[in-house]
Amino acid sequence: MTQYDYDLFVIGAGSGGVRAARMASEHGVRVAIAEQRFLGGTCVNVGCVPKKLFVYAARFRDEFDAAAGFGWTLGQATFNWSTLIANKNREIERLHTVYNSHLQKSGVKVITGRATVLDAHTVSIDGNEYSAERILIATGGWPFVPDIPGKQHIVTSNDLFFLKQLPERIIIVGGGYIAVEFAGILHGLGVHTTLCHRGDSLLGGFDEDIGAFLAEEMTKKGIGILFNTDIEAIEKAGACLAVRCIDGSQLNTDLVMYATGRVPNSSGFGLEQLGVELDKEQAIKVNGDYQTNVPSIYALGDVTNRMNLTPVAIAEGIALVKKLYSNQAHQTEAIDYETVPTAVFSQPAIGSVGLTESEARDKHPDIDIYLTRFTPMKNTLSGLDEQTLMKMIVVRGTDRVVGLHMAGTDAPEIIQGMAVAIRAGATKAVFDSTIGIHPTAAEEFVTLREAAP
Ligand code: NDP
Repeated sequence: MTQYDYDLFVIGAGSGGVRAARMASEHGVRVAIAEQRFLGGTCVNVGCVPKKLFVYAARFRDEFDAAAGFGWTLGQATFNWSTLIANKNREIERLHTVYNSHLQKSGVKVITGRATVLDAHTVSIDGNEYSAERILIATGGWPFVPDIPGKQHIVTSNDLFFLKQLPERIIIVGGGYIAVEFAGILHGLGVHTTLCHRGDSLLGGFDEDIGAFLAEEMTKKGIGILFNTDIEAIEKAGACLAVRCIDGSQLNTDLVMYATGRVPNSSGFGLEQLGVELDKEQAIKVNGDYQTNVPSIYALGDVTNRMNLTPVAIAEGIALVKKLYSNQAHQTEAIDYETVPTAVFSQPAIGSVGLTESEARDKHPDIDIYLTRFTPMKNTLSGLDEQTLMKMIVVRGTDRVVGLHMAGTDAPEIIQGMAVAIRAGATKAVFDSTIGIHPTAAEEFVTLREAAP
């Protein structure tokens, strides 16, 4: 008979925590999961899911504009933000029910409340103590906002999902995933949108051509982009906000949103007292088996700040449970973080897998770059001038395709399929001998003939 109440106590019911809890329970392990807010974590409540619903809402603007070229006459389109929010909230509530029922069916004990880790085997919630052989921290992250005068006027993506009404104008600060996604959403919904980024290109970490192309397309749509712009202070100025930049310039707006990265949720619940090691960004340090320096404490997902993506957290949850509780632990393949595909639901959308051009040049002496930029077929009649960019990076000696990047309609859907080929080690010759599907944009990836000079 075990001395513990549970074999595994998971703190945080987001994507990674829920997957680990359910899967462990299905292996016959006694599991509890604690959540202080809502089931589903960032992705379901203030991330991927509501964001994608907002992107759909925003895309209608272009669809309405495009319709006339195909013979449609539409009346005056109007948009109601409250309807979108109410429908989105209803869908999220449905997902809470689904998550709860999946956890119950798997036999996981769900405990609502803020957990504190008392020692290496004990968790406390609302005065109740639970002992566990192992504790898994899957507490995710939280938006980071720099400390500037007027910080109290700033909203983050967390707030945007629940705004009572849309502003007329917004300034979005940052040049990463969230900044460009929300710039596309808000512009599409009719908000006068300006992006302020301290750097000189969008989407650091992505292929350089993709960032430059996105900036061009966003600008064409009417989104203002101010590069090399850092904000010093924000002040209330009557009904609006005055944003003072470091170069002395001033911008007036109705709302300021910061999308300047996220910090791991690693403090304030006992880890410091226990001596769990954090890195300088406050991420929990783990070894290859998701184990912290306190052997009974594990961590995965955004709180470890490695690759902050839902499917990565889920994969980590699966890998951990296989390692700890499956009798095939020795066969468990480590996650390959190098070929994780990713998407940005900007407008146009982006999909990417493998190395960027500069990463490939650092790693391989000789590479070939295939690049195509074209007007998608739909836009021959739509009157829209959004273009598509596709890029393939090939190692000359081995012919291996090591990077694929796309910006354009359906890029995330297309790159998901292409990622399988990259994982399988496809060469350029394999791409070339694959028959295209016509007429699609995706077929361009199998008809790239001329490497860039
Ligand atoms: P990112 O790390 O993608 O981007 C942060 C941006 O903020 C960068 O442009 C950065 O500039 C800038 N920045 C950082 N600190 C400051 C500061 N003090 N002042 C001004 N600018 C600053 O973070 P996000 O918040 O956009 O997203 C967080 C994470 O969430 C992403 O990295 C991603 O992992 C995940 N995510 C994934 C999505 C998806 O899969 N589609 C969607 C949304 C989020 P600089 O480059 O100069 O450092």
